[in-house]
Amino acid sequence: MVITSGSALSRLRAPFGSGTAAGLSLFNTSRKVVAFLGDSTFYHAGLPGIINAVYNQHNFTLIILDNGTTAMTGHQNTPGNGLNANGPTVKMPIRQVLEGLGIKNIQEVDAYAQGKLREAVTAAVAEPTFSVIIAKHPCMLKTMRELRSTGKTLPPEVTINKDCSLHHDCVEAFACPTFQRDADGTVWVSKDLCIGDGSCKQTCPAKAIVSGTNSGKEAK
Ligand code: SF4
Repeated sequence: MVITSGSALSRLRAPFGSGTAAGLSLFNTSRKVVAFLGDSTFYHAGLPGIINAVYNQHNFTLIILDNGTTAMTGHQNTPGNGLNANGPTVKMPIRQVLEGLGIKNIQEVDAYAQGKLREAVTAAVAEPTFSVIIAKHPCMLKTMRELRSTGKTLPPEVTINKDCSLHHDCVEAFACPTFQRDADGTVWVSKDLCIGDGSCKQTCPAKAIVSGTNSGKEAK
């Protein structure tokens, strides 16, 4: 069972994924409950649910999506950045906070390393205890905005080469909206949407997604 802050249930109470997961874990003894929480939500409202899970020894896996910013409200800093509206302040890394609560089963993985992330989730879900995965990767929207605002060249879009054998993992499993599928199954890249971060390349079993050969778009 998976709870996300965007699920129908939690849309009403967006920051309480960890608390909801704790309740659901009591009645899901044959399958592990997995909950998701963003890094900013972790600080502003996720902690009570986590403390509750530790204190009451609940059994679920929490995946914290740590993109280093508060993307949903306009890229404000979080306590994990060590910066507030007035400048530098005390930094509170997520892992340190979790360890301070006595949580032992913590894994930190680059969210773009699909294989390692899969291994981490599989291991965490197999453990009969509360476990946390911190899936880290900088917010790419913020990164692109910074590249544009400093006039730097943007990375080139990916392209799909002749090795494409229509597995459609890019469309169906990875689901980046950049990938478009025609009625005959042909997949193509929408250049207006692609930010060229290349995280999709590892998704294709045929290795048909490759970095573009253009030298990169000029920032607009
Ligand atoms: S490079 Fe990034 S934006 Fe472009 S298709 Fe791949 S994942 Fe999507």
